[in-house]
Amino acid sequence: MTTRYHTSRAELDALVAELGQPRYRTEQVWDALYRQQIPLEDATTLPRALREQLAEALPLALTALTESTAHDEMTSKWLWGCTRDGAQIETVLMRYPERATVCVSSQAGCAMGCTFCATGQAGFERHLDPGEIVEQVLRAAHVSPQRVSNVVFMGMGEPLANYDNTLAAVRRIHDDLGISARRITVSTVGVAPAIRRLASEDLPITLAVSLHASSDAEREELVPLNRRYPIAEVLDAASEFAGAKGRRVTFEYACIDGVNDSPAQAEMLGRLLGAFPGVGGAHVNLIPLNPTDGFPGHASIPPRLRTFAQRLRSHRVTATIRRNRGTDIAAACGQLRSRAAIPPPPPGSATMEP
Ligand code: SAH
Ligand code: SF4
Repeated sequence: MTTRYHTSRAELDALVAELGQPRYRTEQVWDALYRQQIPLEDATTLPRALREQLAEALPLALTALTESTAHDEMTSKWLWGCTRDGAQIETVLMRYPERATVCVSSQAGCAMGCTFCATGQAGFERHLDPGEIVEQVLRAAHVSPQRVSNVVFMGMGEPLANYDNTLAAVRRIHDDLGISARRITVSTVGVAPAIRRLASEDLPITLAVSLHASSDAEREELVPLNRRYPIAEVLDAASEFAGAKGRRVTFEYACIDGVNDSPAQAEMLGRLLGAFPGVGGAHVNLIPLNPTDGFPGHASIPPRLRTFAQRLRSHRVTATIRRNRGTDIAAACGQLRSRAAIPPPPPGSATMEP
């Protein structure tokens, strides 16, 4: 059985006809789901009986198990159970005064095993289908007073290891939700052949590459996939993407105290990325490490982060320090893992300012 946000417009059209309804109903349903982005039940332009029939024929793919909101009230996290098989995934909504970003999961779990990442520590369960990915954006949109303007594939899973479903979801988010390609960011640990494939697609989405180190020996300790696709190969694929799309590539760098945050390491990273091609060169997003149970490291301290960013800028590599949001509900980068049975940590865990 198909699910509500998996169904294409043509399939919806067929269903509407099957229910003996006039064709314009398809337009009304589509408008409610994707343009107004309201729950089907609230689409009052439709007769109640039709809403009920559609809800039954097109069930939701996700059931909310928990919904938590951080004490800043601008960050929310959902733990969902997939209706299909009970697999658990998480989604984060980050609201800003004028807009909102949804951080979606692309897989239940992840097979890449990055040592500092809670999802990687938990292992792989399965790929998500496009309907499950698109539904995360819309379910978050239903509660957000601000319009969802950006979608980032930075939740659980490696999107490029689930290439076809990720791309199908990206297309739906672009075509049906009307979010521009540049506001859709796919973050990858560095699956080089898939980055090249992405470079050949027509949509100029934003690519983020998780680097975390500037030498292969150091990166292998954090990102096991580096043994298969070492830094040079990942950068080569990323520059192909930058060249094909004329888009600046973002590199993510989780800053771990005493591990990868020294001035000498910043210098090396600056040299590595200083020559990166593409409009505006490379951009580095410094993410202070978020604590996870399975990794002993700590976040770099703010002065160290600032020095690191300055060194990068001296190589004409732009750098920003990401403010962690939602650490008190374990909603920050790399903290997502299904843990329905485990309560979130107590409020008051430090929130870093830029
Ligand atoms: N699999 C993709 C996307 C999901 S992870 C990827 O790895 O890029 C999204 C981002 O969170 C990645 O840059 C990842 O390296 C980072 N991340 C993972 N664990 C983290 C942690 N504990 N602290 C800070 N960032 C983390
Ligand atoms: Fe997977 Fe990304 Fe976590 Fe690595 S950092 S284990 S690729 S989700």
